[in-house]
Amino acid sequence: MRPLITLFFIVFWVFSHGQEKQILIKAGKVFDSEQKKFLTNQEILVQGNLIKEIGTKLSVQKETTIIDLTNYTVLPGLIESHMHLLYLEPMKSNLTLENLKMITMEGDGLRILRASKRAKTFLDAGITTVKDLGNSGQFLDVALKMAINEGTIEGPRLFVSGPIISSVGGQMPGMNKKYDHLISEEYRIVKDVEDAKLAVQENITYGADLIKICADNTPNNTSLSIEQMKAIVETAHRYNKKVTAHATGEKAISDAIIAGVDGIEHGYQLPESSARLMAKKGIYFVPTDLTAELLMNYSGMPKEAVTKYLENSQFKRLRSAMKENVKIVAGSDNYIDFGIPQGEAAKRVLVAYHQAGMSPIDILTSCTKTASEFLSLPDKLGVIKKDAFADIIAVEGDLENEFDKSIFQIRFVMTNGKIYKEVK
Ligand SMILES: [Zn+2]
Repeated sequence: MRPLITLFFIVFWVFSHGQEKQILIKAGKVFDSEQKKFLTNQEILVQGNLIKEIGTKLSVQKETTIIDLTNYTVLPGLIESHMHLLYLEPMKSNLTLENLKMITMEGDGLRILRASKRAKTFLDAGITTVKDLGNSGQFLDVALKMAINEGTIEGPRLFVSGPIISSVGGQMPGMNKKYDHLISEEYRIVKDVEDAKLAVQENITYGADLIKICADNTPNNTSLSIEQMKAIVETAHRYNKKVTAHATGEKAISDAIIAGVDGIEHGYQLPESSARLMAKKGIYFVPTDLTAELLMNYSGMPKEAVTKYLENSQFKRLRSAMKENVKIVAGSDNYIDFGIPQGEAAKRVLVAYHQAGMSPIDILTSCTKTASEFLSLPDKLGVIKKDAFADIIAVEGDLENEFDKSIFQIRFVMTNGKIYKEVK
C-alpha cells in the first residue's frame, strides 16, 4: 500500500471509530463478578461492542443515549456452559432413538432451523453466551455459530465442540452392529491413541472452539482409555484448546482427572477424593442438575422419592464440591422438552443449585466469571469492566433474597453492544 493511501485509511479508521455512538447505562445495583458483591449507583459506558468504563458520574458525549436501569439489578450476560442446541428429546424417549430420527428423518436443514429458534430463547432468558457440547451432527454447531456471528440469525455468542470424541458406540445403546456407521454421524469414534490425536486435529480444523470427550459413554458402558484421553488432552493443549469430559461414574471421573482434562461435566458420582483433586488441579466442574420440580416431571417419581434422591446424590456431591472449593461452572445439559422455551428451561439449573444450598452470589459467579475463565476469556465475558464485551442484562426484584423469582424477571438484554430487549 502506498504511504498516502495508508495515511488515509488510518485517519478514516480513527474518525469512524471516534464516531461510534455511546450508550450510558444508569444502574441501580450491579453484580461485580470479580469481587463477588453487589455495587450501587454505578454507571456503565458502552461504545461499540465494548464496555468503555464503569464508575460513578462518568463524563459522556452530548449525544450519548441514556438507559435508565436504576430500578433493576444489572449483571453481565449469563453464560450457559453445557448445552445441545441441535438436540431436543421429548420426555418419553431416548438418545439413540432421537439421534437416529434426526440423522435419517429430520436431516441437517430442518435440524439447524429448529436450533436457530432455540438459540434465540437464550437471549430472551438473559443468557448471552452458550457453550454447545456436541450432539450436533457433523459440525452443524459451527454453522449455527457462523450464522449468529455474521448476523444472519439472532442468538447468543456460541462456543462449540463439534462431534463428541468417544469410544465405540458413542452414547447410542441398542444399535445393530450393521448400522453402527450411523453413530459416526453424531460422534467422532476413535480407535486408538493415534486416531484420538487425529480426531482432535479434525475437530479444530473444522471449527471447534474446545474439545468434548466421553470419559464414559453413559448410557453405553464402554469408555476411552486413559492413554487415549491423555493423547487428546496433549494434542488439544498444543493448539490452546481446552478439553472437557462427560464423566458420570467414579472411575471415569478419576481416569479423566489422571488424563489431565480441564473440566468434568455431570460428575453424578463424584467422590470427595476426586473433588479434592479437582480443586487442587484447578479442574472445572459443571454440575448439570435438575430442580426437584423438573425431576418430578421427568421421572414421574413422587415428591418424597425425588427429595430423597436429591439429598443422597445430586445435592450431596455438589455440596462436597463446594466444600472442597472446586471451581463450579453452571451448565444445564437441558435437552429434554419440558414444554417451556429452552433458554428458560436451561436457567432452572441455577435454581437447582440454590435448592442444593448454593448462595445467590456463588450461583451468579458460576454463570459469569468462573464460566468465562473456563472459556479462556476471563476479561472479556462474564464481567462488567473496561474492554469487556458489552453483554449486559438487568433483572427486576431482589436477587439476594428472592433469587428463584428474580433471575427469571429479565427486563433488559444487551449483547455485543446491541440492545436485544429494551427496558419498558
Ligand atoms: Zn450433555
